[in-house]
Amino acid sequence: MNHFFNHSIQAYNTFGVSVKANEFVIVSSLNELKEVLLFNKNEQTLFLGGGSNMLFTQNFDGLIIKNEIKGKYIQIEDENNIEIKFYSGENWHETVMFSVEKGYSGIENLSLIPGTVGAAPMQNIGAYGVELESVFVELEALNLKTLELETFNHNQCEFGYRESVFKRKLKNQYFIFSVTLKLSKHFIPKMSYGDIQNVLHDKGIIEPKIKDVSDAVIQIRQSKLPDPKVLGNSGSFFKNPTISSDLFNQLKSNYPEIKGFTNEYGVKIPAAWLIENTGWKGKRIGNTGSHAKQALVLVNYGGATGSEVKALAYQIIESVQKKFNITLEPEVNIY
Ligand code: FAD
Ligand code: NAP
Repeated sequence: MNHFFNHSIQAYNTFGVSVKANEFVIVSSLNELKEVLLFNKNEQTLFLGGGSNMLFTQNFDGLIIKNEIKGKYIQIEDENNIEIKFYSGENWHETVMFSVEKGYSGIENLSLIPGTVGAAPMQNIGAYGVELESVFVELEALNLKTLELETFNHNQCEFGYRESVFKRKLKNQYFIFSVTLKLSKHFIPKMSYGDIQNVLHDKGIIEPKIKDVSDAVIQIRQSKLPDPKVLGNSGSFFKNPTISSDLFNQLKSNYPEIKGFTNEYGVKIPAAWLIENTGWKGKRIGNTGSHAKQALVLVNYGGATGSEVKALAYQIIESVQKKFNITLEPEVNIY
C-alpha cells in the first residue's frame, strides 16, 4: 500500500489539473481498503479510478483512495453466455479488449472509454447505442458505514442515462468492489449509430465480427476525441439533454438541420449542437476551451485550473439557456 501526504494528483486526473490531496493512498486489495477506512480520520473521502470523469477545482481537503484492486473470475458459463466478475480496479478498455479477444460480445461498442470497471456503473457508461446496463448482472459494494459487502442487482442500481443510484441517493456511501457482466458467445452487431456503418462500409466489411466493430469504434473515437495524454479533458462535459417534443418541434422549425432522438422521456438532442450554435465550438479562453472537433469536450491547453474550466462550462450553460431555453447539465463530477 502506498501512502502519501500533501500529494499532487495532477497525474491521476485526465484533465491534468494541478491540485493536491491532503492524504493519498493506493489500495490493491479489499483488506487494504478496509484497513485504510477503519483508521481514516478525514472528514472527506473520495474514491478515484482513472480520474477520467472528474474536474478538481481546488485542493482536496481529505483522503483520496486510488483503486488498484484487480482480478477477474468466471461465475457461470454455458454454450450461449458467460458471466464474469471483474474487480473494480481493472481498466475498462483492457476489459473490453479481453472480451473481444475471447469472442464474448456485448461491450465492443464501449471500446476505448478510459477509466476503471468500478466507475462504469456510476454513470452507466454508454457509447454508440450501448450502455453498461445492457450486460450488467450485479455488483458488490462496500458499505462505508458497516464495512460489509452488499450485492446490488440491476433494479437496485437504478440505472438511467449517464446515471445510477450511486450518483444520486447513495452518493458517497459505497465503494464499488466488483462488477459482474453477462457476455454473449453469439455476436449480433449493434450498428444503429451511422458512423460505425460508414467505417465498416468503407473497409468493405459486410458481415462484421466483434473485433471489426471494436476497431471501427476505436478508429472513430481516435479521429474525433482528444487524447487526454496530449490534451487534458474528461470526455463529454455535459449530458445530452432530453426536451419535450413541443420544444423540439419549435426548434426544428427554426433550425431544420437539428437532430433529435426520441426516447421514453421526450426527444434527446446533441448538446454539441447547442454549444456549436451558441458560438463556443473551438473557442479558447485562456488555457481552456471547447474542442474544435467535438464541442462537447472541454479541454485543458496546459496549465488550466479546474476553476477556469468550470467558469467556461457555466458561461456555455448560460449562453445555451439564453438562446435555446435549455439547461445543460454537467456529466463530469466537479470537486
Ligand atoms: P473516475 O473519474 O476516477 O471517477 C468517477 C466517479 O466515480 C467519481 O465520483 C469517483 O469518486 C467515483 N468512483 C470511481 N470508482 C469508484 C468505485 N470503485 N466505487 C465508488 N465510486 C467510485 N463516459 C461514457 O459514459 N461514455 C464514453 O464514451 C466516454 N468517453 C470518454 C472519452 C474520454 C476521452 C474521456 C476522458 C472520458 C470519457 N468518458 C466516457 C467518461 C469516463 O471515462 C467514464 O465515466 C469512466 O467510467 C470514468 O472512470 P474512472 O475510473 O476514470 O472514474
Ligand atoms: P455523434 O455520433 O456525433 O452523435 C451526437 C449525439 O447524438 C450523441 O451524443 C448521441 O447520443 C446522439 N446519437 C447519435 N446517433 C444516435 C442514434 N442512432 N440513436 C440515439 N442517439 C444518437 O456522437 P459523438 O460525440 O461522436 O459520440 C459518439 C458516442 O460516444 C456517443 O454515444 C457518445 O455518448 C459517446 N461518447 C461519450 C463521451 C463521454 O464522455 N460521455 C465522450 C465521447 C463519446 P448519446 O451520447 O446519448 O449516445
